[in-house]
Amino acid sequence: MSAAQNPLTPEPVTLRNPTCNIETPSRALAIGAHPDDVDFGCGATLAKWAQAGCEVSFLVCTDGSKGTWDSSTSRDELIATRQREQRDAANIIGATGEVIFLGQTDGELESNLALRAEVTHWIRLLKPTVVLGHDPWKRYRIHPDHRHAGWLVTDSVVAARDATFFPEQGLQHHRPDMILLWEADEPDHVEDVSGFADRKYEALQAHRSQHVSTMSTDTGDFRSAVMAKLETVGKAAGIGLAEAFKLLDDL
Ligand SMILES: [Zn+2]
Repeated sequence: MSAAQNPLTPEPVTLRNPTCNIETPSRALAIGAHPDDVDFGCGATLAKWAQAGCEVSFLVCTDGSKGTWDSSTSRDELIATRQREQRDAANIIGATGEVIFLGQTDGELESNLALRAEVTHWIRLLKPTVVLGHDPWKRYRIHPDHRHAGWLVTDSVVAARDATFFPEQGLQHHRPDMILLWEADEPDHVEDVSGFADRKYEALQAHRSQHVSTMSTDTGDFRSAVMAKLETVGKAAGIGLAEAFKLLDDL
């Protein structure tokens, strides 16, 4: 995350006749730009599915090495810390799949062909029923890593589904049933996460190195901010607590 665009910042939620709750997928792969993005974007949904038996995997594109306001922090130490925090958060979510780090330099992520091949490799290997990620079409989102991570999700699903893409990988092609995009420009689907809000909060809490820079835990009530966001989305959908997505199922 970047502190200037906190995903918990209150904003009006517009949902036009959203669909609610897909059938629990057998395998889910959530792809985020930075350690903590997946937990912000869909942590409660993943916790709900994990409890129902879904194999949840995380893929983090960058090394999170710009996630500090303290210029004296060692870069290598911060990278190791953020990987450890992401693994802790995945455990709290109940994820039983992989936690993968592509290790790209924070702030310099690109949706290029080499990275598309890497993400395609993981989609073919893990065979997710559902892939989740950033919405690359989100208007006025200026952080390039979030935009590029979003393109990597959509472009890699296209490549993974078709045997003629990257045949040198020697892996069976795989077509997920759907993509769910968080912080979506036009959200049209919600997952009811009543009962899983605390799991999301605890997973976010595991990112201790981000408490001050992203979560403002020194100046505000972070737990209330997490709950308020889930409540706002739930209210807009006419249910309890919810996370909202753009659902793409014509893959
Ligand atoms: Zn981020």
